Amino acid sequence: MIIVMKPEATEEQINFVSEKLKKHGFGVHFSRGTERTVIGAIGDKSAIEIEAFSVLPGVSEIIPIRKPFKLVSREFRKEDSVIKLNKNVSIGGKSPVCVIAGPCAVEGRDEIIEIAKEVKAAGATALRGGAFKPRTSPYSFQGLGVAGLKYLAEAGKKAGLPVVTELMDVRDLKHVVEYADVIQIGARNIQNFSLLKEVGKVKTPVLLKRGAATTIEELLMSAEYILSGGNHNVILCERGIRTFETYTRNTLDLNAVPVIKKLSHLPVVVDPSHGTGKWDLVEAMSLASVAAGADGLIIEVHQHPEEAFSDGGQSLRPETFARLIKRLKSVAQAVGRNL
Ligand code: PEP
Ligand code: MN
Repeated sequence: MIIVMKPEATEEQINFVSEKLKKHGFGVHFSRGTERTVIGAIGDKSAIEIEAFSVLPGVSEIIPIRKPFKLVSREFRKEDSVIKLNKNVSIGGKSPVCVIAGPCAVEGRDEIIEIAKEVKAAGATALRGGAFKPRTSPYSFQGLGVAGLKYLAEAGKKAGLPVVTELMDVRDLKHVVEYADVIQIGARNIQNFSLLKEVGKVKTPVLLKRGAATTIEELLMSAEYILSGGNHNVILCERGIRTFETYTRNTLDLNAVPVIKKLSHLPVVVDPSHGTGKWDLVEAMSLASVAAGADGLIIEVHQHPEEAFSDGGQSLRPETFARLIKRLKSVAQAVGRNL
């Protein structure tokens, strides 16, 4: 385990902790940073009462190093990861809050070009749109496929926005990498380990969405697959989990934001559209997400939600989205972020 001492911890307090650890049979290793000292304690954790150590004077926190996730963990990297979506847009750390907006699905060339311009004018920093759609029913619109990717890329270029789109099948990876700036792995594929391994081999950033029944640890383990494959450009996304509540489509677990921030250095995005399933709840949950520390949002916006091929009921109109962005600015400012 790692014992992180408070920055103001005295030498005496550090020695006290160290001696106590040795008495319990631990090998003690120091890492003296410019800000604080970290004590690495190697030994049998069950030999001590962790709680008793955490209240010792000068101790800030105790982190077991036997976490199943390693590369995604804060222990591996103390600083927030900053991921570049393209040369102009970054997410994480002190980057401005990133707002990814657009329709659930790319429905046509003109439609995606028009909405791209609208969301850009309202203040979006990236464009979303699915070309491969994971639909519950095989009879529902499945997406435009590669043609949809091309329209999305064209719309992104015209509006000056990086584009995010879902990959469902390893066979489409080359197309998605060719046309998209960010590969979205959807909630249904969070534990599709072969897919995760493949996106671990490319450099394109990955937006990894938590599954409807995935624990935070499982989400981090899925991210670990991608990082361990060599792709460190992973953005985690909370999009709601399935609970007994039926009023909303999912239960948006905003706890996940500070929890992930604590456990991992990776940026966190919240999807209040799928998280609520209702357009009129999207603004409140977007504000709450940024207040909770999210690095970004992914929001569904459609010119005519009543005619959308998918997820119309949770899609904002461009003008509602523009109002949301305005309100978001004050929340971002209140929590020390730019937008
Ligand atoms: C989507 O973003 O349109 C989508 C299908 O999301 P999720 O995978 O979170 O359900
Ligand atoms: Mn959708």
